[in-house]
Amino acid sequence: MKINSARLKDRIYSLAEIGKIGETGVRRLAHSQEDRKAVDLVKEWMEDAGLDAHIDCFGNLRGRIEGTEKEKPILMLGSHIDSQPYGGRFDGTAGALGAIEVIHSFQDHGFTPVRTIEVVCFSDEEGARFNKGVFGVRALIGQLEEGELERKDKEGMTRLEALKEFGVTPEITQSPVYQPGDIEAFLELHIEQGPVLEDLKKPIGIVSAISGPLWLTVSIEGFAGHAGSVPMNLRQDALVGASTIIREFNDLVNNEGTSNTVGTVGSLQTFPNSRNIIPEKVEFTIDLRDIDMEVRDRLETRLYEIIKKTCSALNLKYSLSEDTRSDPRYCADWIKTIMKEEDEKLGYSSPTLMSGPFHDALFMSYISDYGMIFVRCEKGISHNPLEFAEMKDIEKGVELLYQTAARLSES
Ligand SMILES: [Zn+2]
Repeated sequence: MKINSARLKDRIYSLAEIGKIGETGVRRLAHSQEDRKAVDLVKEWMEDAGLDAHIDCFGNLRGRIEGTEKEKPILMLGSHIDSQPYGGRFDGTAGALGAIEVIHSFQDHGFTPVRTIEVVCFSDEEGARFNKGVFGVRALIGQLEEGELERKDKEGMTRLEALKEFGVTPEITQSPVYQPGDIEAFLELHIEQGPVLEDLKKPIGIVSAISGPLWLTVSIEGFAGHAGSVPMNLRQDALVGASTIIREFNDLVNNEGTSNTVGTVGSLQTFPNSRNIIPEKVEFTIDLRDIDMEVRDRLETRLYEIIKKTCSALNLKYSLSEDTRSDPRYCADWIKTIMKEEDEKLGYSSPTLMSGPFHDALFMSYISDYGMIFVRCEKGISHNPLEFAEMKDIEKGVELLYQTAARLSES
């Protein structure tokens, strides 16, 4: 193995001590004191690895190693080290510290890249604190929105204030940092956060695409009435309508989706929410994802038919609002080809799989070709202290990252 897995393990477990909760949990909210401590420690590791490191004005930690041909578009590697409020030790950190390990091992083996390499620990990937994440990567590519620095956390502190407390002063005019053409490729390693690799009994996987979510809110309106006095044939029960739609939506995704399609209703509110009143109004969310837009579009149309048919049969009114509509973003074929070649040489025979959750890489895809490596995680648990990935799986993923980064930076 080219990488030093003992060093990598030591760093992953040392970093987990910062913001540690319980035995295995981590709480490092974006721009917090714990986040700053983590960034300072990881910055030292970047420097040990031979990277010229700095914290930019958006809170991103960025380290560079100059290539012999400085005019070439750079190779970028990275992930994040902030966490959910009740998070685990591997989400983000496996990839961020894995990327640093790759460069450190280059140094150990006397490998000098032709192409300049930058390693980034993106700030606020998780979005838990200000209810909007991937802040650092969006700043790099120029996708910050109006009022972004005025968003408040639960204590009423704005992002601007939090970033100042963290030790940087954001300059919106500095965004974007990178333009299309500046970056040859972006590579991210991440734990899978799902059960597919475990099910396949494979330690790592090569990602094909990050699926695009369609998020809708459905409101159904019926008519309230006393649960004891309104006969069944005269009712307009919004919850009966909603539950019929939810059931049929689930069947639809199961029967007409592909193995990559997932559909979820994760939140539901009923009004007035009383045991002896017929539900008058119900609101629920739809999350529909696929990497194939044709499939997703077809199921979306079918969903609307189900809603219309159900509401008309039950004498209900409905309205829909669209909260998010993202396109899937495909990993570059040429990067996947290189990854597969290196994967074969390592004797892993890793499967290809899609990513349901999004990652920093999703945003990098708007200005650069990208590739991702997934590492198996126990039972697919993530965003939870129980999150666990075996070191021997992580080191395989980082070894593949090493070989891929070496190929991409040697010419
Ligand atoms: Zn993550």
